[in-house]
Amino acid sequence: MPGPGAYWIDKEEKREVMDVLSSGYLSRYGDLENPDFKHKVYTLEQEFAKYCGVKHAIATSSGTGSILISLLALGISEGDEVIVPGYTFIASISSIIYARSVPVLAEIDESLTVDPDDIEKKITNRTRAIMPVHMLGNPCNMHRIMEIAEKHNLVVIEDCCQAAGASYKGKKLGSIGKIGTFSLNVFKTITAGDGGLIVTNNDELYERAFGLHDQGHKPNRTGLEVGRRSLIGLNFRINELTGAVALAQLRKVDKIIQTLREKKNRFKQSISNIPGVGFRKVYDEKGECATLLTVIFTNKDMAAKVCEKLGTKTISHSGWHVYNNMEQILEHKTPVADWSERSRFASIGSLPKTDDILQRAMNISIGVVDAGLGAGFGININSTDEEIETCAQKFKHACS
Ligand SMILES: *Cc1c(COP(=O)(O)O)cnc(C)c1O
Repeated sequence: MPGPGAYWIDKEEKREVMDVLSSGYLSRYGDLENPDFKHKVYTLEQEFAKYCGVKHAIATSSGTGSILISLLALGISEGDEVIVPGYTFIASISSIIYARSVPVLAEIDESLTVDPDDIEKKITNRTRAIMPVHMLGNPCNMHRIMEIAEKHNLVVIEDCCQAAGASYKGKKLGSIGKIGTFSLNVFKTITAGDGGLIVTNNDELYERAFGLHDQGHKPNRTGLEVGRRSLIGLNFRINELTGAVALAQLRKVDKIIQTLREKKNRFKQSISNIPGVGFRKVYDEKGECATLLTVIFTNKDMAAKVCEKLGTKTISHSGWHVYNNMEQILEHKTPVADWSERSRFASIGSLPKTDDILQRAMNISIGVVDAGLGAGFGININSTDEEIETCAQKFKHACS
């Protein structure tokens, strides 16, 4: 099963979708003055921008699309280097490759997000951007990252695909860097099956990103714009049905996060004080989504044994999100032969600190139930106190 939003699809989503179907207007574009046009995508963008405390939001067809558009809108291109953690979903890395630039992988720290010290080590005279990824619903060390970016004149693209609704020191994630990207796929905090969002405070960047997502058109086009298009774009639009579901989900996001935090705290309390078992560092306890509870063992053999007993895997062996397991990148399987240069920075074992941490780490699901993330064991957003306690006892027993 997937992320917490998917567990809470209910009458609100149905009502929004039926509203669209009854109106017959399926495209995101229409006359805002026409009462028959329900403008769900437009409303989603307005409400999400407000929610994040930024000027602009654009709804897109995926998180991957959001990242690619952001890189292109920023003018990142041939030969530019973008620093990205080696522990992330492949889309962060593949988007950099498709933007014709070079992903430079950096270590993570005990928060399982990018290690600012290693970012500094990876900066060269070709570095253009840093892409911090707020992995597992937790904010990166944005204070340090913004400091480094300013010092070296780099742009920051926040990958918030796993962290819709999370914040760092009172600011919503996505609003701290120059541009922020989100996903609405089924494993995320809120979902529309698929979809994405981009947020920014920069007017020019907004116009460029909007145009890239819709054939070069100006934001919210209403008619024929021949002769006024400012760039060559593609199509990453979403339709009103997706917008309707996303809008209903957005209106639930705070309740989802609040519920997850309560359940996570309960679980965490039940398994605290076990010898050899710690938790991952969280840079802002008040800001995380609490979709997962990540345990870090002092010893990797103990980690492997406990995971085996519980029918799950350490994060290092969990599949999708670890650079060591991304054969497409490691084997330079780029679609165009001379692009292989762009994945040359990734090779097995090239991030020893990341390897060490992930061999000792285990994800317990709280809201995101995903074996691909190493979170095949745990609870979900609807679990009762009793179920949480039973699950926590199982974990304790496996540790003894
Ligand atoms: C899910 C995810 C993406 C991509 O989102 P899609 O909507 O599936 O394209 C990008 N980055 C991270 C960190 C993700 O978890």
